[in-house]
Order: sequence, then structure tokens, then C-alpha cells
Amino acid sequence: MTGDETRDVTLEAIEIRQLALELRRPMVAAHGTTTRRDLVVVRVSTADGREGWGECAALAAPTYSSEFAEGALVVIRDHLAPRLLAGPLDPDHVAAATNDIVGHPMAKAAVEMAVIDAHLRTVGIPLAAALGAEASTVPQGGTVGEADLDDLLDQVGALVEAGARRVKLKIRPGHDVPVVATIAAAFPDLELHGDANGSYGADQVRRVIHTIEAGLRAVEQPFAPSELGAAAELVSADIGAHVLADEAATSPDAIELLARRGAATGVVIKPGRLGGLGGTIETLDRATGLGLAVAVGGMIESGLGRHALAAVAALPGVDVIGDLSPARQWLVSDPFVDLAVDASGDVVVPVAVGVAPPPDPTALEALSTVVSTVRPA
Ligand SMILES: [Mg+2]
Repeated sequence: MTGDETRDVTLEAIEIRQLALELRRPMVAAHGTTTRRDLVVVRVSTADGREGWGECAALAAPTYSSEFAEGALVVIRDHLAPRLLAGPLDPDHVAAATNDIVGHPMAKAAVEMAVIDAHLRTVGIPLAAALGAEASTVPQGGTVGEADLDDLLDQVGALVEAGARRVKLKIRPGHDVPVVATIAAAFPDLELHGDANGSYGADQVRRVIHTIEAGLRAVEQPFAPSELGAAAELVSADIGAHVLADEAATSPDAIELLARRGAATGVVIKPGRLGGLGGTIETLDRATGLGLAVAVGGMIESGLGRHALAAVAALPGVDVIGDLSPARQWLVSDPFVDLAVDASGDVVVPVAVGVAPPPDPTALEALSTVVSTVRPA
């Protein structure tokens, strides 16, 4: 994605907001419970009035990865923004200018998305087209957190009703075989995945196999990211289901190691964890080159982040149904425009220029808990 057309346009201000978005229900997973989506969003603006929006995937607490919303806000405000202000509105410049900041891929991804959005609006191109997407729709994948069985059956039924072709259950030791068996029996045609968020011990390979045999077509991050031996043992058991690396898929080199060790049949790509859309495309290319399957993963995004995910999910090489559903599956309130679904329930790949339409200003103000604007010193 070249920035030729906007290289002479400089960034004049970077606004960082923390939003408090209400969830329909708490999201319970092995890594913790999310009760409210404390979401950091970024607006970049230029002297001539262009603007772009980006979303940070970090959750409220550093339990999924080391990043968390309040920390990401500080990293963007104090460390990323000063490196980018007065610099060019050029997507390729973001990674280079922030390369000396160690880690913080979700914070970097938020700023990169905002610059890409402003750049694409200037040149009049939708994100999906800029990335090379070919599909006009993407199968919808829903996710349910831990809950009791009756509640789960209701939630899965509602997702299927809303058009989901795949549903992902959160699993962990003690919330696995009977849960999967019950849901699989009730929805025999549904593609069921299980996400353990690394909660099985390296000595629990058999238990993961039993869980898969209860009706899963894919299992996501069964063991901790460092437990490559256990993951390789599971892959070699050849159980007829994908073994997807999620938390372990942190970079192109990380997935190359997974492939070499036989520790995954596929990877989950998340723009936040991979430092942005640039890193995501690089990782997707490496994964497909290694013969790995690819799914796009979600982080309870707003409509903004979901627009970016839809563009990535429409790319060639994404061949496993991932977490793409409208933001309203989780969020009660959202200042951004949500994804649309077609009559069959598939997500329509956005065609508006940029990453996503700008937010509703009134809703944005009402939902903001922190607003901070940085300008050139
Ligand atoms: Mg996962």
C-alpha cells in the first residue's frame, strides 16, 4: 500500500480516546472475563482537514496478551504519536518511524489503521480493494463464551439464526467434552470450533483429542504458546480437525517455527497482535507459503475494527471460517457503522472508501471516558 499520493501531506494532530462500550453479556474465556469493552480508538488529522480512524485491540486487562487499553493509550500518546506528528500521511512510514518501540503491536496497529484510513479516503480506495481482496462476502463466524449448557444452546441457536456458519466455543479443562458433544448433537450441520486460549497442560493431549472427537472441526491454541511439543503431538495424532495457533502466531517467523515443528495445521491472524495490517498481510503470505490454513480472529471489535477484519477475511489464502460477525453480536453501543450481512447471513465486504465510515460524533462523545490530543511540539 504505497503512500505516494499523500506523502507531502503531514499529520497535524493525533487524538486518542478510550471508549466504554457495553456488552450484551460478559465474555467468559480461559484468559479471563470481559464485562465491558474499554476500547481505545485513534483519530489522525492533517492540516488540510483529512482524517482517519484506527482501533486498538487491547482489552481492559493484560490477560490475553501483555497489552491493555489504558497502557495502550499511554504508549500511543507518549511514544507513538510524537514519532509520527509532522511526518507524512504514509502507511509505510508508520512501522519505520516506530520501529525503535519494543513490542506494543496493538498500539502500533491502531495508529497504522488510522493512517491507512486517512490515506485511502484521500485516494478514494476501499481497504478491501487496496489489500487485494477478491471475495465480496465472507462466511459469518460467531463465538460464545463459557456458560451453562441451556444458555449455550440458546446462544448458539441465536448465532445460527443470525447467519453464522461456524460457531466457536470457549473450552478449557472442565468445560469441554460434554459441552462440545451437546452442542454438536443439537446442531449437526454447524461447523464447531473450540478455543482453549492455551488452557490445557502439555500432559493433556489425550483430553484435547477427546474434546475434538466430541464434535470439533478445529481447536484453537489448546496449549500455552511455548508448548510446541504437545501441539506437535496433537497434530501428529491426525484427528481430522485443524489445530490452529492463535496466541502463538505473533509474527511471520513465529509461524515458520510452528510449521517447522509440526505444531499447527493453521494460524489465526489478528491485525492487532501482528502490529497492524502490514504485518497481517506479511504473516498471511508466509502462512500460505508454508501450506498453513488461515482464519481471521476477532477481539470484540467495534464496527471500525470489524470493517478492517472483513477486508482481511476476504483475501485469498484465508480458508478457515474465523471470528467475523457484526460488532452487534457483542456490543450494545457502538459509535461506528456496523458490518452488513446479506440474505444468507454472510458478511458483506465493505466497499466504502477507507477502512470504515467515520463514527457518529454524538455517540462518540457520549461513550468516551478519556480524550487526549497530541500535536507537534
Ligand atoms: Mg483464540
